[in-house]
Order: sequence, then C-alpha cells, then structure tokens
Amino acid sequence: MTLHRSRTAVLALVLVAGALPGCASFETAGRAGKPVVLTTFTVLADIARNVAGDHLTVESITKPGAEIHGYEPTPRDLRRAADADLILDNGLGLEAWFQQFVDGLDVPHAVVSDGVATIGIAGDAYAGRPNPHAWMSPANVRTYVDNTVAAFGRLDPGHAADFGANGDAYKKELQRISDGLVRDLSVLPQRQRALVTCEGAFSYLARDAGLTEKYIWPVNAEQQATPQQITSAIEFVRTNDVPAVFCESTVSDKPMRQVAGAGGTAFGGTLYVDSLSEAGGPVPTYLQLIRYDAGTIAAALTGRAS
Ligand SMILES: [Zn+2]
Repeated sequence: MTLHRSRTAVLALVLVAGALPGCASFETAGRAGKPVVLTTFTVLADIARNVAGDHLTVESITKPGAEIHGYEPTPRDLRRAADADLILDNGLGLEAWFQQFVDGLDVPHAVVSDGVATIGIAGDAYAGRPNPHAWMSPANVRTYVDNTVAAFGRLDPGHAADFGANGDAYKKELQRISDGLVRDLSVLPQRQRALVTCEGAFSYLARDAGLTEKYIWPVNAEQQATPQQITSAIEFVRTNDVPAVFCESTVSDKPMRQVAGAGGTAFGGTLYVDSLSEAGGPVPTYLQLIRYDAGTIAAALTGRAS
C-alpha cells in the first residue's frame, strides 16, 4: 500500500528510476524548453492549461479514467515529478498518496483549493473532514484559477501578466458554465430535486443547483458498498420517488444498478467527477464535464433520457 510505503522506499524509487539508462530524453522531448508543470489528475491539468497558454507544459500524473483517491504512484511518476518545475495538487485530502509522493522530492508544489469554503463529508468515518471534490462547483474553480495564476507567476514571472489575463478570461467562462448549470437544473420540480450517486462527490454541485444529495459511499477510496449503504440508498429512492440514479465514470456502477432495480427507478447514466475522458470522449475538458453532468442529470430526472 502506498500509504504505508516509507519515505526511504520512495526515495529509493526515485533514485532507481533516475538511474535507468537512456530514459532522460524521451521524457523531456517535445517540451521545447518550457517549464514543466505536473498536476495530480486530469481535471486540474485542463484548468492549468487554460491559465498557462503556450508558456508552460502542463501534464497530469494520472491518466484519463484513473481512480485518483487511492492511486499508487509508479517509479515513472516519481521520475517525471523529480524532473518537473512545479506540481499542483487539489488538497483537502483528495489525493491520499500525494503527501508522501512530494515529501521525497525537491520540487515546489501548490495546493489549488486553498481558500475555498468547504463542505464537510457526512459519514461516521469522515466526520469533520472536508469534501475534497470542490471543483464540482465552477464558482470554487475561480479560486483554483487564482491559486494557479499565483503559482505560475512565481514559476515564470516574465509571463505573469499573461497568466493573469488567461485566468480572467477562463473565469468568465466559468461564470457562464455556472449560470448554465443552474438554469439546466432549475427546470426540475421540487419533489424531483434529488441527486443519488455512487460517491458523495456532488455536494458542491448539489448546493449550487439546489438539489438534495444522497450517495452510496462517501469517498471512492472505500468503494465497497456495505449492505447498510445499499439499503439506505434504496429506501431514499423509494421514499422520495426518485426518477433516476447515477454513478461515476471511475468506479463500477453495479451497486447503483442494484439500487435502481430494487428501488424501482431508472439508472440515469454515468457522471464525470474525478477524471476527464480521453480526447475523443464526452468530456475532454473541465467545462465540458460540468455541462455534460448538468445535462445528464436534468435529462434523466425529467424523464427526457429514455
Ligand atoms: Zn472522488
């Protein structure tokens, strides 16, 4: 387990990875001498690229579709990170593997969620801890952008004005997306304003859109649904006559299909939270992710999906 890997072992991995012969050039090929920024997952990489413009090379450590909470970094990840000029992480306990990952590295890092007003996770084991999925509110992502602009300005002061201008333009897009999200979901009648998902990743989006949130498990790191969690979700669906339920792209939707079957409701579709899709998929950017999720939720809850 990554969590139990000692710092010495991590350092050893870095050293071993760094000692591999003949690998240095292919990692840096195509970066054209620009500073390299690594993010922990694809959503942050897309947001960061919008701020970076052409001035920086931005890459994600984890690939599209990866489970990011309990990810186990590889020796290649460590070597890429050791060569990077800046690492951006979400923070709020999202990346369980991250602290140990950066502890062994001499690379600056910035936490992009710094300053966001968080919502707590409801659930015994998580009591008092913030829900890490703060990017699911486009309003919060304005703070992510501000932190990214500041970190890039420190990394590459010569382009600080461009980063600021790029960030301002992107924040305008975020406002438009946020307005669209609220408008898309405002058509739902009061009694159908329930969002039932596998992971409790939608607290911020549900708050913005005025939906009641219900989920099977609080955080994907523990994606083994207990019989109590399944029963509780089925009861919620029946009691509230919920028209459709959803699951996220990075986990199995089997438990939620079980809830849908037993609760007498429809499986409304796959939502994207913890990862973008590949370039040819439905959500290659963060803005598309929010638009896609809002559209899928509105269509399924109003019966337009089937
Ligand atoms: Zn998650």
